[in-house]
Amino acid sequence: MKSRVSVIGAGLAGVEAAYQIWSRGIEVDLYEMRPNRMTEAHQTGFLAEMVCSNSLGSTDMSSASGLLKEELKRLGSFFLSEAEKTRVPAGNSFSVDRLKLSERITRSIRSKSGINLITKEIRDIDEIEGTVIIATGPLTSPDLSESLTRITLRKNLFFFDATSPIIRSDSIDFSKLYRASRYNKGAADFVNIPLDKESYDEFVHELTNTETVAEKEFEKIDFFEYCLPVEEIARRGNQSLAFGTLRPVGLEDPKTNTIPHAVVQLRQDDLRSNFYQMVGFQTRLKQKEQKRIFRSLPGLGKAQFERYGRMHRNTYINAPLIINHFFQCKTRDDVFFAGQICGVEGYVESTGSGLIAGIYAAKKILNEPLIPLPETTANGALIHYITRSDWKNFKPTRFTFGLLRELSENNSLFSKKSNKKMNKRKKKEMKASVALKKLDEWLLKISN
Ligand SMILES: Cc1cc2nc3c(=O)[nH]c(=O)nc-3n(C[C@H](O)[C@H](O)[C@H](O)COP(=O)(O)OP(=O)(O)OC[C@H]3O[C@@H](n4cnc5c(N)ncnc54)[C@H](O)[C@@H]3O)c2cc1C
Repeated sequence: MKSRVSVIGAGLAGVEAAYQIWSRGIEVDLYEMRPNRMTEAHQTGFLAEMVCSNSLGSTDMSSASGLLKEELKRLGSFFLSEAEKTRVPAGNSFSVDRLKLSERITRSIRSKSGINLITKEIRDIDEIEGTVIIATGPLTSPDLSESLTRITLRKNLFFFDATSPIIRSDSIDFSKLYRASRYNKGAADFVNIPLDKESYDEFVHELTNTETVAEKEFEKIDFFEYCLPVEEIARRGNQSLAFGTLRPVGLEDPKTNTIPHAVVQLRQDDLRSNFYQMVGFQTRLKQKEQKRIFRSLPGLGKAQFERYGRMHRNTYINAPLIINHFFQCKTRDDVFFAGQICGVEGYVESTGSGLIAGIYAAKKILNEPLIPLPETTANGALIHYITRSDWKNFKPTRFTFGLLRELSENNSLFSKKSNKKMNKRKKKEMKASVALKKLDEWLLKISN
């Protein structure tokens, strides 16, 4: 083992970074504060815990998440290869047993000589000497956040988003519900709660006329669009949920042979199906109100909540000002940022940034050149976006196809097609194949 890198935070990004560095023959000190000090969202002391949904997104290659995961697979992602072993049925989506996955990862990391897992909260960045990756996530402990302002030279930004409730399956009356996947795609893994117009209207009325958790004075509520609380969506218009989270399209109720007015979906949360998660039901409602309102839904009259939805902090740096294309701090090349704190958003994006930051940190230690990941790859486009976008309006970002450069305009494949939808999909598939080709070329370059 040559030299050493410290990684602070053994979440999705930190664990992936540590593994990548270790697999390149470099010793790693991996610091994790849990279980001694917990965050507001984590429930265990295990590493790489997925704190909310158990889904890693679609596996479809023309979806942003599908492409991102395929790139990570080719890059040798440790997290994804472990995740594969704990998959639960969920149609087209890559969903896992969250607890099993983090248990597996913890066992595996502990078994690696050369990764020293240290249970400790790092309160001041100056406690660490040498090359360090900061991967402490959206719930970075307040003391460390404060000390990071010495590096970032300005206050960290923060905003809020919210988590969905999880219900014990033995408390659900499944006789009132039905299984189906939207458009009958893949296995019927979702359990659906049908609502007619009258019960939908009543439900929306209750959602929008009840108490939410009080805001603290210093908290500027600025929700991330992807993870809006269900009551916030409902407030945008009486039918906004029926056209969004609760849209019934393709979900025919076999009892009535009709499509209900709206459908609440439950997704299996663990391998043994002990728990179900309310899909898209992130919320800031008070717990007693969640219990009252969600129990009014068919089949949930006696629902026991394993976890209530809630709001949470989200810490991140102003990436365009602070880091370069290698996730490296512009003012200190021995400091890297990875995961949600560096300005990406989402499980897969966080894992990806950890993986790539890990490769770059290892290259730095090995005195090898740092070669930028092409912008034509999904991960490269995301890095490009977070490091080049307008710092005044910067927000953590997911990967979307919109971040990839447009394909050549005069490509005859597109001009002849009349079906716009078909073109869109085709374009995505072509962008995906260019991305994977460029990624393979980059991999070849960095391994020579
Ligand atoms: C409540 C919540 C719900 C979310 N839901 C989703 C979702 O459903 N889908 C999705 O794609 N994304 C979701 N996200 C966003 C994001 O993808 C996850 O937070 C993801 O886990 C981020 O990965 P990370 O490695 O950056 O941080 P984390 O996985 O949170 O890892 C950071 C680690 O650092 C540790 N740590 C913090 N401070 C210190 C310190 N000072 N010293 C030592 N250790 C420290 C923490 O305990 C934690 O283990 C959610 C985020 C939050 C906060």
